[in-house]
Amino acid sequence: IATARVAEKWVKTTCGYCSVGCGMLVGVKDGKAVAARGNPDHPVNLGKLCPKGLSEHHVLDAPGRATQPLLRKDGKLVPVSWDEALDVMVEKFTGIQAKYGREALGVVGTGQLLTEDTYTLGKLVQLGFGTRNNDGNTTLCMASAVSGYKLSFGSDGPPGSYADMQAADVILLIGANIADNHPILCHRLDRTNRKGEMKLIVVDPRVTKTAMMADIHLPVKPRSDIALINGIAHVLIRDGLVSHDYIAAHTDDYAEFATFVEQFTPKHVAAVTGLSEARIVEVAHLYGNAKAAFIGWTMGVNHSTQGAMTVAAINNLALITGHIGRGGAAPFSITGQCNAMGTRETGFTSSLPGYRKYENAEHREELARLWGIDVDRIPSARGMAYPDIIEGAVAGKIKALWFVATNPVVSFPNFSVLDQALRSVEFLVVQDGFHPTPTSDYAHLVLPAAIWGEKEGTYTNSERRVSKVNAIVTPPGEARPDFDIFLAIAERLGVRDELYPGWTTTADAFREWQRVSAGRMCDYSGFTWQQLEDEGGAQWGGERLYADGVFPTATGRAKLHCVPCLPFAEQPDGEYNFVLNTGRTVEHWHTRTKTANIEMLDTMVPQAWLEMNPVDAAQLKLKAHDRVTVVSRRSAVNNLELRITGIVAPGQVFMPFHFSETNSNLVTLGAFDPISREPNFKQCAVRVEKFSQT
Ligand code: SF4
Repeated sequence: IATARVAEKWVKTTCGYCSVGCGMLVGVKDGKAVAARGNPDHPVNLGKLCPKGLSEHHVLDAPGRATQPLLRKDGKLVPVSWDEALDVMVEKFTGIQAKYGREALGVVGTGQLLTEDTYTLGKLVQLGFGTRNNDGNTTLCMASAVSGYKLSFGSDGPPGSYADMQAADVILLIGANIADNHPILCHRLDRTNRKGEMKLIVVDPRVTKTAMMADIHLPVKPRSDIALINGIAHVLIRDGLVSHDYIAAHTDDYAEFATFVEQFTPKHVAAVTGLSEARIVEVAHLYGNAKAAFIGWTMGVNHSTQGAMTVAAINNLALITGHIGRGGAAPFSITGQCNAMGTRETGFTSSLPGYRKYENAEHREELARLWGIDVDRIPSARGMAYPDIIEGAVAGKIKALWFVATNPVVSFPNFSVLDQALRSVEFLVVQDGFHPTPTSDYAHLVLPAAIWGEKEGTYTNSERRVSKVNAIVTPPGEARPDFDIFLAIAERLGVRDELYPGWTTTADAFREWQRVSAGRMCDYSGFTWQQLEDEGGAQWGGERLYADGVFPTATGRAKLHCVPCLPFAEQPDGEYNFVLNTGRTVEHWHTRTKTANIEMLDTMVPQAWLEMNPVDAAQLKLKAHDRVTVVSRRSAVNNLELRITGIVAPGQVFMPFHFSETNSNLVTLGAFDPISREPNFKQCAVRVEKFSQT
């Protein structure tokens, strides 16, 4: 508080952690960030911030920053000049591509970058280096939502807004612990902030903080959410709670869908989910009778080998009842990272920039015209997704890797495969704001990058709100903004003038992105940076999509999907008798490269833990605070503090994934959704033993 009072100026910006996208004011004194507070005029958070946002300014003064380029020489990373670093990088990448083919290079970016960075990087990778193998760490969190939207509606794009959560009379949250992961959104949902009545239903195998807020908590068995959703559809149809007018006017394949869900009787669904038949019917009736019902979901749905189809099943409910395109009525993916949406819109990843489709010749020709390039340089099919890049490295197809602001050693499932991949490639570049990280330790070249608070551009949040991000301080040492690094690489490749004519700042990238997105669903052409800063951002597509019931499909109608409920990839058995669920805690962000260096947050939660039900603990003769080891078929995580709690059901255990010292991804499974390629982080079979030092 004392430092806040002496701040010389307050800089408006947007939080750089989660996708809620809170507006903030950062106090500056003597060129240093000394305080952070919520922007009272920002429509997302109205002055509120969670613990991460409130302490975010400390990251700008944190230890552990990467401050100079480092090149591995004789087995050691040693400081080199930027010129040497980038010359070597381009020489190595192009040399490897000349030897093995252009697609021997794989690049993995992140939802932490600015939209302008991601747009610039996509052009550099695809049109400069000429490889299609470009993806983001967003495939580890939101790819299933993207694929599910495309399956149902013909395009990505969350249909609703945060305001819908306050206008709905029924809110169904599936696999979404927003109290820990999206705290300010949770604050908006809190009934003390609401005028009207609302029923909150939370579907989660754990009694999360969000489940504790619910009117009805549905503690489903792991991966039985599809059966529940199909069961709700069954009851809605059986009891006449569907909107036949909406179905007839705006959907395809209803007859097939109605026949398919006949098998999901309350009795059958009760057996699969562990819920009572009465509860299933009650929830279906609440949803079907609501004036406006909202379904939100996050990683509990997406982190699955059936993530994309689970999203399609959720969309089915909204479509058969017409709970979409109206105030309070939407199926809505709550995104993960601060700019995961910007990555989805601009990147050469699962779509071409502007949600254009690889397979659509007109889309490719339009982009070629906009960029003044030969259309043959724009691919007609996407390259490898992130997991395929990693598996491609193990298989010897990917020979060079470039990670930008991501830390896969902690965040990627089944560490042993990732380890093999990182050791297999001939040249690995890690571009990050921090060093050492568990991933940068593997690198042949480390490029020190500026982070949030040191660069200017935009983020787009979960509700499609584009907000301004500002530079508050200068980057430490020789660290440079990612955008500058991309342009310097383009210069060395000889494509700077062609791809980025006259560009010097991210404002140039934003202006071109406005032209490229004009007329597309994610249209930024009407925004100015000043307006975005003054007004707390603006939503592309307005407050909600599909208000007219017209969808960007071939028929103009949304598609209903028959979604089977398949068993998850690794079932518990006699040897590995628990289902391990992984997740997050409010104090930390992803792999803690930032939050472990913020004393306040690290002191609050310095280590990981394992949650186990009292029944299981008694059987294993374990007591609270014992140190335990979690063992899977792949490896083991040692020395976790045991928490004995009814938060988890018997037969299930839970641990947070943030901590490199007790990396949950030593034991998680390398199983991926066949459509979205998102990993199945939420279920694998483990056993638990008392930890022994020997
Ligand atoms: Fe930042 Fe998310 Fe917290 Fe808001 S809720 S302050 S965006 S971390």
